[in-house]
Amino acid sequence: MKKKCRICSGKIISILNFKKVALSGSFLKRENITKEKKYKLSAGVCEKCKHFQIENLVNPKKLFSHYIWETGVSKKNIELIIDLLKNLKLRYKLNNKSKVFEIASNDGVLLKEAKKKYNCNVLGIDPAKNLLKIAKKNNINTLIDFFSFKCSKKIIKEFGKFDFCIARNVIAHTPNPNDIFKGAENLLSSKGIFIVEVPHLENIFRDNQYDNIFHEHVGFHSVQSIKDLCSKNSLRLINVEKVDSQGGSIRCFITKKNRKMKINKNLDLMIIQEKKIGLFKLKTWFEFSKRVEKHKTFLNEYLKKLKKNNNKISAYGASGKGQALLQICDIGKYLDKIYDKSKLKQGLYTPGSHIKIVDPQKISIKNTDYLLLLSWNLAKEIANQESVFIKKGGKLVVPFPMPHVFK
Ligand SMILES: [Zn+2]
Repeated sequence: MKKKCRICSGKIISILNFKKVALSGSFLKRENITKEKKYKLSAGVCEKCKHFQIENLVNPKKLFSHYIWETGVSKKNIELIIDLLKNLKLRYKLNNKSKVFEIASNDGVLLKEAKKKYNCNVLGIDPAKNLLKIAKKNNINTLIDFFSFKCSKKIIKEFGKFDFCIARNVIAHTPNPNDIFKGAENLLSSKGIFIVEVPHLENIFRDNQYDNIFHEHVGFHSVQSIKDLCSKNSLRLINVEKVDSQGGSIRCFITKKNRKMKINKNLDLMIIQEKKIGLFKLKTWFEFSKRVEKHKTFLNEYLKKLKKNNNKISAYGASGKGQALLQICDIGKYLDKIYDKSKLKQGLYTPGSHIKIVDPQKISIKNTDYLLLLSWNLAKEIANQESVFIKKGGKLVVPFPMPHVFK
């Protein structure tokens, strides 16, 4: 049976078909390579509310119970966290009496910062057992679970209501976002603020970022889709800003329905812009699918040519989207190694493409001429870090919007 829209239960019209791929977060030990499973991956648009989403669901327990992406590994991410908390203090009076709850709190870095700098009372929730150890080291009280409406009732019984509920890079991962919004509405105090950060569909659409499409990312959000989720769950979107995260994200500020806070003008302006570029039209999505095919061919040709000219190519960043790109485009065959700073990933092999992940300290002009940036959203940070490699003639290749050498 075909899946229904995760926001409005409408029918989904198929747009992209990437056939079968391994799960982007399932990095492998060498001995497990032969046991690897692959799953169908395709995406489409809801006929009714026009929400863009993947059509094939994998059990979230399989995806997130052992998660090897640590928030604290990226410097850029820490900057974004600091910026968000500052913002909450200035605009919404975050202070030492505030109770802050974070959905998918990962290694606990955000809550650690809220506790250290603003002396807030904090609590996190995350299904990944392996990250609990790190969160504990950060001294953050963390529940091991998926957040839901049911779970919000249990939390209220034990901890009461919260002034801030933060959900960064998690709404896009869940098959049932209505349940999270309903839970957040329940958990918030009457003057509480719900903060949602998601990659913005506009960037994915405009810059061909189809590497964002994999099993962990179930839905791709516009401002309109967040507004739809709010109105279905007694919430009210009051402000949206763009943030430079995950290739371009939106940070949404949400209150309870009855709280009469002024709605910021840029909200309507952003929705008008989304309409203008065609995010809610089927025709533009079929055009997008053609652009994706073109990009896939171009990237293959680009790397093939480098290889033909005797260049040694590796990739940087064992990100989820990187694993999607390697598999969707079948470009693993051009790469020697994948470099990544995360100690949790080093020594393992990439899903689907089976390339060994190595510490970036081993990057040298002797073993690499070109580094394909799979975490291309962190290009500047990586270029700074690899300045010696670049000085000696090494090149970084950014795959989007079209493959090019980073300057
Ligand atoms: Zn829908």
